[in-house]
Amino acid sequence: MYDIIIIGGGVVGCSIARWLSQYKLDIALLERSSDVCEGTSKANSGICHAGYDAKTGTLKAMLNVRGSKMMEALSKELGFGYRKCGSMVLCFDENDKDKLVELYDRGLKNGVEDLKILSGKEALGIEPNLSKDVVCALHAPTGAIVDPFTLTVAMAENAAINGVTFKLCHEVTGIQKESGHYRIHVTKHPSLTDHEQKEYDEEAKIVINAAGLYADKIHNMVSSAKISITPKRGEYMLLDTTAGSFVQRTIFQLPTAKGKGVLITPTTHGNLLVGPTALDIEDKEDIETTLEGLSEIKEKSVLSAPGVPLREVITSFSGLRAKLTERCDVINPDDLNKEGDFMIGEVPDAKGFIDVAGIESPGLSAAPAIAEYVSKIVEKMTDPPLKESFIPQRKVHIPFHNADNKTRLEYIKEDPLYGNIICRCCMVTEAEIVNAIKSPVGATTSDAIKRRTGAGMGRCQSGFCNPRVVEIISRALNVPQEAVCKNDTGSEFLVNGKEDK
Ligand SMILES: Cc1cc2nc3c(=O)[nH]c(=O)nc-3n(C[C@H](O)[C@H](O)[C@H](O)COP(=O)(O)OP(=O)(O)OC[C@H]3O[C@@H](n4cnc5c(N)ncnc54)[C@H](O)[C@@H]3O)c2cc1C
Repeated sequence: MYDIIIIGGGVVGCSIARWLSQYKLDIALLERSSDVCEGTSKANSGICHAGYDAKTGTLKAMLNVRGSKMMEALSKELGFGYRKCGSMVLCFDENDKDKLVELYDRGLKNGVEDLKILSGKEALGIEPNLSKDVVCALHAPTGAIVDPFTLTVAMAENAAINGVTFKLCHEVTGIQKESGHYRIHVTKHPSLTDHEQKEYDEEAKIVINAAGLYADKIHNMVSSAKISITPKRGEYMLLDTTAGSFVQRTIFQLPTAKGKGVLITPTTHGNLLVGPTALDIEDKEDIETTLEGLSEIKEKSVLSAPGVPLREVITSFSGLRAKLTERCDVINPDDLNKEGDFMIGEVPDAKGFIDVAGIESPGLSAAPAIAEYVSKIVEKMTDPPLKESFIPQRKVHIPFHNADNKTRLEYIKEDPLYGNIICRCCMVTEAEIVNAIKSPVGATTSDAIKRRTGAGMGRCQSGFCNPRVVEIISRALNVPQEAVCKNDTGSEFLVNGKEDK
């Protein structure tokens, strides 16, 4: 029996796992996909929001500002991509200026530091590619960009090093309340290295529901007060690194009566990201991109910066926001559970069951603070002792593409596989790919390699390196190349000719 089972290996579940791994607790994380960061956490804007957006007095506001303040130190401790580049909200109409001032005031109330309202001229002075129509702008120097992939993976790896058991390809299909604990029905799906499919039960004293879009399904397994989550899709265009310095900061548009606008932002990988749209849909798996969505991005982005080089697009993608459309009571230290807010707390009719639901934006920014908050709830339940052996840091090498030549030579001397460039666009070496496979929550798919090393993220979008990545995974894990997948089972790249006949 585990002390705690966390359901969901997104940024929220992995951050909670990492936070709780400092206590003497026996913890497992169950994730239905073949890797962590396969849900909403892999498809978002990658912004660490400063915290002026969320309504004052909500968990969203409190945890956003706290998360934003924690993120830089954590990025150093755990080695994930982060840059405090600042952000700007643009206002194009004198009549909307009040709304910008409202954001400024809210930011101050929420505890955001160094906010300033700039004139149009001042805004253009620091971001010359902006439209001349900008009347004024809210500047937040504490706004930042973060790499959602390495953030999530770093949390998971550090949790694993500190004793959390990660069970990938493990889907929770039912939960039963028993006296003093929960019985969790699990379907273990076949994985690259373990082909068995089986149904079995796990047991835990405390269950933490961090299942993202499916947090309603998990909650409804244990509570008579039902909740419901509706997906809201956001589409993006990702531009090549040649466009990466088009703007230095994240550029938002002030939401107006005409709509919410789209953002233009540099990414930690050096690209330029433009989007997202916002469309309520029904299917929680529908992550298609559409002509309408991409056209909307084009129309709206040129309002902020007429010269935005959309011809440099290298891929498009979409992510799904987990919008809570029906919520219920939960118990948390601040008695906060308002409409439109994150829903975090113990479920009244399911003692020991903690919901972390409705984690829309700014969930990525808030993830470390959400983890801290959830651990306060756990502390109240069990008062667990701290582990003396907790290791807060994660060891990371400077990536080969960022290292100077002297360091590169040292790497190659230590391991000749560093001399073998696999991804030419992003200069990722064979050694880095092998290390990603051997890491604590090791990569077994080509997408997992991409998230950990950047291989396949460049202009060719893995066209050249993917066959070699498949070969390396096959060799390192001693499996046939035909079994290697892009992500979950069914996404194999190669067909075995003999079997096909
Ligand atoms: C378009 C868009 C833009 C965004 N931009 C930003 C931004 O710039 N900044 C910001 O702060 N936030 C942003 N967000 C929000 C942020 O991405 C989310 O808040 C965050 O990723 C949610 O993480 P999560 O762990 O709750 O969910 P997920 O990442 O979805 O993780 C949930 C996990 O649970 C697993 N799971 C589900 N059901 C089961 C089951 N039955 N058994 C086992 N596992 C299960 C899933 O496979 C998944 O891996 C954005 C979101 C979207 C959609």
